[in-house]
Amino acid sequence: MPMTVSCPTCGRPVIWNEGSPYRPFCSKRCRLIDLGAWLAEDYQIADGTDDPADDPPPSEDSSQTH
Ligand SMILES: [Zn+2]
Repeated sequence: MPMTVSCPTCGRPVIWNEGSPYRPFCSKRCRLIDLGAWLAEDYQIADGTDDPADDPPPSEDSSQTH
């Protein structure tokens, strides 16, 4: 019975031998996804600037509700 591991990306069983060159990932795609997720996380940390443009300015129209 071959040893299997779970793909970290999709959780599918991966047979741990030379037939699975991307182990512990089940495929090259899953390996790239995991690598991409790691890079994206790194970019989020690097780009930690708080952009005030994302927040709406204080509304001046609220004074119309008399
Ligand atoms: Zn996978």
